[in-house]
Amino acid sequence: MAGLILKIMVHRIFRDNSLLNQFIAEIRDVNVQNDRLRFRQNMERIGQIFAYEISKHLSYQEEEVETPLGTASCNLSKDKLVLATILRAGLPLHNGLLSFFDNADNAFVSAYRKHHKDGTFEINMTYVTCPDITDSVVIISDPMLATGASMQKSIEALLDYGKPKEVHVACAIASTNGIEYISRIYPKVHLWIAAEDEELTAKSYIVPGLGDAGDLAFGSKLQD
Ligand code: URA
Repeated sequence: MAGLILKIMVHRIFRDNSLLNQFIAEIRDVNVQNDRLRFRQNMERIGQIFAYEISKHLSYQEEEVETPLGTASCNLSKDKLVLATILRAGLPLHNGLLSFFDNADNAFVSAYRKHHKDGTFEINMTYVTCPDITDSVVIISDPMLATGASMQKSIEALLDYGKPKEVHVACAIASTNGIEYISRIYPKVHLWIAAEDEELTAKSYIVPGLGDAGDLAFGSKLQD
């Protein structure tokens, strides 16, 4: 297969043991996850790890930087970044990414599950705010990728704002179904996954997962 470059689009960053294991264990653990501040901080730290890993895939140019003692040659990324997230659960993961990508522009999508009596649900989108994403590297974060339906709708909505250079999706915990679904409908999207679970409940919660990421970060809500 000489000369064939295979682009790997699903990046399972949990395959190498690292400090990430500790953060994932803590957001899952029923004895730890109810400390809301710690839950949000762990999500932010996972976002920072995603930022570091994704940064290895950006384009870099050499630049000269003056030090007090001379000139250093530094490779710096000039990619235009847009960080997007899905309200409200995505905010801590998004903040983690933003704390590493200092000058990124930002986009927000509000997508929620509207449940029906028969146990099915549809994804309702009520709000999108997004800059021009033409030629940008767009990173969409969502802590949980369950069926992939909200992510699909969010990517669709963001693509109305221009033709990006690349799209990356970063999820703390993803179901195997969700990964397969997004990879199938968006084969050029990079998927970054910090943990993968095989099972989904009838209500499309990830098992073992962690429960409701939005409630754990911000408290429960009066809404189905
Ligand atoms: N959203 C969550 O918060 N948890 C899940 O398990 C699935 C979607």
